[in-house]
Amino acid sequence: MVVNIRLVTGMVQIAIVSGKGGTGKTLVATSLALSLKNVQLLDADVEEPNSALFLCHRVQPIDKAEIPVPVIDKETCTLCGKCSDSCEYNALANLPGEVLLFEKICHGCGVCSAVCPVNAITERYRPIGTIYSGREQNLLFNYGELIVGEELATPVITKLKEFVKEDRDFVIFDSPPGSSCSMVETVIDTDFVLLIGEPTPFGLSDMKIVVEALRQLGKKFGVIINKDGMGNEEMEEYCDKEQISILMKIPFDLEIARQYSLGKTLVQAFPKWQDDFTQLALEIKEMV
Ligand code: SF4
Ligand code: SF4
Repeated sequence: MVVNIRLVTGMVQIAIVSGKGGTGKTLVATSLALSLKNVQLLDADVEEPNSALFLCHRVQPIDKAEIPVPVIDKETCTLCGKCSDSCEYNALANLPGEVLLFEKICHGCGVCSAVCPVNAITERYRPIGTIYSGREQNLLFNYGELIVGEELATPVITKLKEFVKEDRDFVIFDSPPGSSCSMVETVIDTDFVLLIGEPTPFGLSDMKIVVEALRQLGKKFGVIINKDGMGNEEMEEYCDKEQISILMKIPFDLEIARQYSLGKTLVQAFPKWQDDFTQLALEIKEMV
């Protein structure tokens, strides 16, 4: 019989997302992680992972993220063009005398090798990112990093998710911003999503797009308003109208921004916030 380990252990996975970068995602993810015991934080913002700057300076690479790319045997290939015609991503071009592969836009889907009528295509694995690990007291920390110049963030996030530790009470993901495939890959297996928003017209516009995506995915979610007081009331009115819970408000405070710029998370700079984040995690645990 297959047993769902998460049902047995009661582990809760929480993703922290935002409509755009610079909204306070990492501020919340790091502060939440530091307020809990037996927790793991995974920074899935693989194009710009920066949680380590605040939490854990001693990290080491533990694995590679790779994708399979086709290798065409020129001796066997008949230049029929079926592989390039079938490639959704235009990563293959059938030229006179050869089939050309554009490696960096190949998604490693394997369709080309499946359709080749003469089995001229094999695969090799191409590294596109690195997975790192570290530990600070109760906190287990991992992040993925896309190799500079690479474009496919999602396989790096998929690889990062292999390192989730089932014995943790809470697993927190710092997601890439926006509502792209990489955000979806980050949140898809989580129990709850915390959506961070700035109360400005742009912030609200970005938030609405993410809300739509989360609803389509059927995820449970709630909102944290960061820099509360800096803009207008429209975000609160929107959440009220859409029946979205506002679980926390972090005030617009230059001292918070100054401490953050010095490398201190909210709870490190202002320990009184720790109880609020612990309570938030318990509320989420009740909701999932
Ligand atoms: S593996 Fe997929 S994306 Fe890559 S070249 Fe083949 S068909 Fe195109
Ligand atoms: S499908 Fe196979 S035989 Fe046809 S062009 Fe591609 S590699 Fe060559």
